Amino acid sequence: MDLDLTPEQVKLQATAEEVGRSFRDDARDWDESDEAPYRHIFDRVAEAGLLAVAIPREHGGLGGGALEYLITVEALFRMSQSWLPAEPVFATSGPGPSMLLIGKQEARDRYLPDIVSGRRACNIALTEPGAGSALTDLVTTAERDGDEFVLNGTKSFVTGSNVNDLNATFVRFDGVPGAKGIGAVMVDAKLPGVTVERGPRFLGDRGIAHGNLILEDVRVGVDDLICAPGEFGRLMTAFNLERLHNCGFWLGFSEAAYDEASSYVLQREQFGKPLVAFQVVHHALADMWVQIEALRLLAYRAAATAVEGRFPRLAEVTQAKLFGATVGPQITLKALELHGGLGVTTDFAIQRIHRDAVTNVVAGGAPAVLRTGVASGLFPGVRFGQH
Ligand SMILES: Cc1cc2nc3c(=O)[nH]c(=O)nc-3n(C[C@H](O)[C@H](O)[C@H](O)COP(=O)(O)OP(=O)(O)OC[C@H]3O[C@@H](n4cnc5c(N)ncnc54)[C@H](O)[C@@H]3O)c2cc1C
Repeated sequence: MDLDLTPEQVKLQATAEEVGRSFRDDARDWDESDEAPYRHIFDRVAEAGLLAVAIPREHGGLGGGALEYLITVEALFRMSQSWLPAEPVFATSGPGPSMLLIGKQEARDRYLPDIVSGRRACNIALTEPGAGSALTDLVTTAERDGDEFVLNGTKSFVTGSNVNDLNATFVRFDGVPGAKGIGAVMVDAKLPGVTVERGPRFLGDRGIAHGNLILEDVRVGVDDLICAPGEFGRLMTAFNLERLHNCGFWLGFSEAAYDEASSYVLQREQFGKPLVAFQVVHHALADMWVQIEALRLLAYRAAATAVEGRFPRLAEVTQAKLFGATVGPQITLKALELHGGLGVTTDFAIQRIHRDAVTNVVAGGAPAVLRTGVASGLFPGVRFGQH
């Protein structure tokens, strides 16, 4: 088992770290104003050659796989201490674009060239006001009308809704209930009948919207069909990249919290010595680091064992994401505590890092639902019904 990165992967990591670091001072302003110059961020990430990192070369991407994806977003999250610089990677290489890889050729030909070149980037729109964990209860409809589908419904929590045009959107075809009726279509936010609402303000991830996409008699063509109903399992295979993105988030933000805490305890003195000299303090940092290393092993295993190097396997990526969502907020909270009272002031980044961490606990799937998924793998003969 080789755990070393290749020279190319080390180079990719260094590039992403440099780009992330270049934005670190901006993260505070984006958080305070809840606005960010996304086009500028996108262009900088594009100039560094980080778009479409996990899209095959034959489709114009960089030709990396799940591992390159994880390396890139982890470094961007860690160094920028913000959600935003990893968003262009997510929207040109993450679950939305990856659905095109497993979906119908017509949609792939129509959209992937624009996405990999950064002309248009792609969100993922699954969740609805009444269907979060219960994704297979979604009620957004697609009715066939000649060569078109007519879409009606509301998608919520669409990350990037205010900045990316395209939305890989899960819809129910012809009223067929359950997973069997669910497929996906591409929806351009500029189409007639689409309303993009900013939605509620968030505790963290500020500077980008997780907004609502309201569809009222929106017409898309048959060429916009990504996956027909009956292929829910395939769609969820591509969705495993979302979970890997979440793993990158947990790794990067846990590391960022460790970075902040470890430098603070070296310079802050109490009782005539630096905080790090107290055993309880350096033990806390040692525990944080071991948790980060364990998370890294789980997350990198999920990427390394990906199907065709591209789509993380469900069992491994679910375990890694669950572990990240469990230890991540503990690490960021401990790092905040080590800053003492200053930790909750806006003079220090750690409060923002912790808010971003808390914001992401259920993103991409609530821990309770992930636990049931892990348990299902452990007890294959037992059915853990969600209803
Ligand atoms: C920051 C952020 C970004 C997001 N980005 C996107 C995006 O880009 N696209 C998108 O489509 N969605 C996105 N989401 C939505 C996200 O996927 C959902 O929030 C998540 O799946 C949980 O759904 P819910 O919020 O409706 O919670 P609910 O389903 O209402 O669950 C609430 C709680 O109830 C419990 N619960 C629910 N069901 C079960 C069960 N079967 N067993 C045990 N306990 C259960 C759990 O404790 C759970 O945390 C995002 C969410 C956040 C917070």
